[in-house]
Formats: sequence, C-alpha cells, structure tokens
Amino acid sequence: MKKIKSIKLKKRYINILKFIGILLCILLGIFIFYRKEIADLTKYGYSEEASRNILFAFKKDYVLSKGENKTLNAAFESKYFNEKYLDRYARIEYVKQKNLIKNINKLIKIGYSNDDIELILTHGDDSAVTRFTKRDKVKYLDEFFSIDYAKLDNYDRYVKFSDETGEDNDYVVLYVNLNLDKEDYTDSVCVNKFSYDMLINKHRFLSKDFVPDNLEKINSEYSNGNDLKANKVAVNAFIAMAQDASRNGLSLVINSAYRSYSEQERIVDTYKNLYGDDYVNKYVARPGYSEHQTGLSFDIGSKNSNIFSNSKEYQWILNNSYKYGFIHRFPKNAEDITGISNEPWHFRYVGKKIAKIIYENKMTLEEYYVKYLDK
Ligand code: ZN
Repeated sequence: MKKIKSIKLKKRYINILKFIGILLCILLGIFIFYRKEIADLTKYGYSEEASRNILFAFKKDYVLSKGENKTLNAAFESKYFNEKYLDRYARIEYVKQKNLIKNINKLIKIGYSNDDIELILTHGDDSAVTRFTKRDKVKYLDEFFSIDYAKLDNYDRYVKFSDETGEDNDYVVLYVNLNLDKEDYTDSVCVNKFSYDMLINKHRFLSKDFVPDNLEKINSEYSNGNDLKANKVAVNAFIAMAQDASRNGLSLVINSAYRSYSEQERIVDTYKNLYGDDYVNKYVARPGYSEHQTGLSFDIGSKNSNIFSNSKEYQWILNNSYKYGFIHRFPKNAEDITGISNEPWHFRYVGKKIAKIIYENKMTLEEYYVKYLDK
C-alpha cells in the first residue's frame, strides 16, 4: 500500500514538473519573440523604451516603414505622445530638446505647419521654444526665421524694428541680435571671459577686474619707446607683421595697446575736462567698454607719416593684416553696426582663421559674432 501511494505521489510531482517545464518553454518562447521584435527596432536606432512602447501600440510596421527616425523615437519615449500626430512627428526633423514632443504638440495645436515647426525648433533652445509655444500664432515666421541666426526670443523686436525702419530682414536680425535697437550702454552684457574672438562694444563690456591672459611688455622697438603691454600672442603676431612690413620699406609702430579699466576711467575724466560730456559720450569709450581692455587691440601708426590714413603703411596693413590675424576693427561705413566711426589706426587681433573670414567677406567683428558665434 505504502509503495503504491508513493508511486502515485511521484507521478503527481512529475506531472507538476512537466507543467512547469511546458510553461517555462512557452514563457521562454514569448521572451525570445519579444527580444527579437525589440531587436528589429533597436537596429534602427530606437531605444529600448521607445521600442517597447512601439510594440505595445502595435506600430512596429509603421515605424519600420519610416526607418531610422529620431523624432519618432523621442515621441515613443515621451509621455506626451499623441497617436493622432504620428505622421507629423515622422516628418519633423529631430532636435535635441527636453520638451520636444510636448512643444511639437502645442505648435501643431496653434496651427503651425511642419515647416513652420522646424523653423521654430531650430531658432531657439528648449526654453526659448517653450516660451514661443505660449504665444499666439505669429505672422512673420518665414520672413525672419529663414535667416539662420535669427532668434525666437527676439521676434517682437524684429517686427518692431522692421516696422520702424523698413530695413531688409537680414539687417533687422543682425541689428537686433547685437542689441543695437537698445540705447548704448543699457542692458549690456558682461563678457569677462578672455578669448581671441571676444566682442566688446557699447552693448558688451568687461568688468573692472577683467585682465587679459598673458599680458606682456611690448619691446620698445615696436612701441615708440613707450611702456605698453598686450596679450603675448597678439604682440608676436604684430611683430611678425611689422617685420614683413619693414621688408617692404614700411615702418609700423604701436601707439596704444592694453588699457586697464582704471586707465580708461582716467582718459574719460581728462577728455571730460577738456571737451565736455557730449564729446566724451560720442568719442570716448566708457570704462569697461573699450576694446583696449582685452589686450588684443592696437592703435597703429607709421614712423614715416603723422596722419596714418594717408600713409603707405595704412594701405599695406588694410590688405595684409588679416594674414597675421588682425582686422581693421572700425571701418568706414560700418558705424551703425560697430557704434564707432572710422578709426584707421585701430586694429584688433582675432587669430588668422577669423581674420581671413572677416577680411574676405568685408564684415565687422559684430557681424562675425552674430553669424558664427552667437547661434
Ligand atoms: Zn584704439
């Protein structure tokens, strides 16, 4: 009796084990199938999370028909995913922004087309785009945002400045991006980080304690015997330029170079006493707003002529200084952009690469900044 009972018990165990075995096989099968489905999607760059959501939404075939698509991936990762907009997500170029899908949804609702949405997404960062989704549909999207350095946040100022002046859109965007639609010295940006491409003007300043990198004394041979300092790289570039000029029978000299904040303060005071406030406001940079504080600017003269703009040196330097990394900083007919009328003597070191671009495109440093650095 005992034996039969134990055989029965064994049989029951075996049946349970069989059942568990079959169940495990089925689960394993499902798992392998699931992994394969996921792998089909991850192969096209979809994340694990997106792939899972794609499968559960039964959109695998749709997604695979689109191939690799980063916007779709972001959509399926996002909790703001809206199936109604699937085709639109698939057609909008991806940008790396935290609230991308949430913002696309809002822009669709406002009534923007896919092209409009791409223009919006590529002209501001995540927070600028988010701000833009909070306003009504704007009228002149193409007019300004077909310009690649236009900024969403400046839209109202573009419209206003354009209305006021009738200038063409390129100029409007350039002008507003430089804050030139604001009064000089108001809402200015503090720069304070030394770099060879730094931009200082009446809207961008250096603090009192800003000192350029690698200041060094300029050999008196090149400074008319004056005690002048400037950035070492800029000084060496000047010396190379002056030596080549001298092979052409020309003689270049530096009349002014680095000026500290407090030196500029003294200059302002001196001129105020001599000529009054109006003169100073018009012709003398306020402390912090002088490019000479960067240690990268030189007022250049000729040993052969008192009026630099009449000298052979001036003609030579205009056409050759870019080869050494210098630009003519305040050219004629650019006062509206630079804020400073023609200064034939003032040259600025920016490095050879940038100097060549500025020279060849007849730009100002302001335009270079807007078009290349501030995007
Ligand atoms: Zn100067």
